[in-house]
Amino acid sequence: MTAMPPARGCGNAPVLKERGQREVFCGLTGIIWLHRKMQDAFFLVVGSRTCAHLLQSAAGVMIFAEPRFATAILEETDLAGLADAQDELDREVARLLSRRPDIRQLFLVGSCPSEVIKLDLGKAAERLSARHAPHVRVLNYSGSGIETTFTEGEDACLAAMVPALPKTQARELLLVGALPDVVEDQALALLDGLGIGPVRCLPARRADDIPAIGPETVFALTQPFLGETHAALIRHGARHIAAPMPFGEEGTTAWLAAIAREFGVDAERFEAVTAAPRARARKAVEAATRTLSGKRIFFFPDSQLEIPLARFLTRECGMEAVEVGQPFIHSEIAGPDLALLPEGPVISEGQDVDRQIDRAREARADLTVCGLGLANPLEAEGLTTKWAIELVFTPVHFYEQAGDLAELFARPLRRRAALKLEAA
Ligand code: SF4
Repeated sequence: MTAMPPARGCGNAPVLKERGQREVFCGLTGIIWLHRKMQDAFFLVVGSRTCAHLLQSAAGVMIFAEPRFATAILEETDLAGLADAQDELDREVARLLSRRPDIRQLFLVGSCPSEVIKLDLGKAAERLSARHAPHVRVLNYSGSGIETTFTEGEDACLAAMVPALPKTQARELLLVGALPDVVEDQALALLDGLGIGPVRCLPARRADDIPAIGPETVFALTQPFLGETHAALIRHGARHIAAPMPFGEEGTTAWLAAIAREFGVDAERFEAVTAAPRARARKAVEAATRTLSGKRIFFFPDSQLEIPLARFLTRECGMEAVEVGQPFIHSEIAGPDLALLPEGPVISEGQDVDRQIDRAREARADLTVCGLGLANPLEAEGLTTKWAIELVFTPVHFYEQAGDLAELFARPLRRRAALKLEAA
């Protein structure tokens, strides 16, 4: 049931720590997938026109029917008095909630502008919660680009929810991380097949299904970027089941095996439940492996998924990792994947973008995974790139998505090969 570590893994590999300029989206981006997951939540960004533009362009085609997020724009003039700004926020929230009785959870999301930083959104959330309880719970977190990168917005959001969760003494498994419903259902079906339950999810799809936590709660992360949430859950008495992330056949099996061990599931049952989906996943990955095998990959730090993805691509798809950059490396969360990642790549944490671009240029990997801002210039220099943001928007977890995950990396390589053929 356990994934075999390589003779020498990256568990104790030196980490190149970089603290320079970075090229990453801010945490507001998380609202794009969080608002689709939490069906009765609303995200009110307290920010500037830049924030509104970011959300609009990032959400773009994804807005349908009534949107579940908006931006309350603070102008310089609002600074005339912070008390006025608080009053304005209260009025804005009251207007929103009277128009939208379907909203059960409201998140006030902070951003970078100095006028927003001066506003105490924690106090505002407390005040508004008291005013609109019990129908609406108001919480706050920061999605500011100064404090958060890209996927850290989800982490900040979930961490803000933890102190408000009800308490329980029941032994329950909590799955932590926003997954598309169809993918979450697959995980729940596998766990049910193993006889593990009750299982709750954070975030829950609706406010009425919000999980409770307590000393008998054990939790498994489905996303590797949830360091603050991990810490908050532990502070509230829950215990973490450390495991590789459920990407690919091997990662999913190792993740399930760690939970199965915790719940005392026997080996025969584990085999009976996982054998067929494992075989399907291996077969699906095989198709892409023909393109990926022997190719070199370089990861810029963007999504925090880099280490588990490098583990999947090297061990299951035959790729060679040259550099694996991650914005932050949380040893308890990244440790199980690092231990399985074969020795060799530079493991870097944080970013000094110019220096990293130089290393990417020198490495000239077959595939470079990076943010949108870097992809075009690197493509112009003849490098083949993959946008990190796609990895967060595409269902990639667990057995049934393993083939799609491998295919996400194979496609740009095939496209580049086809272009070369055409040009020849
Ligand atoms: Fe820009 Fe900051 Fe607003 Fe993000 S939060 S869009 S980085 S101003």
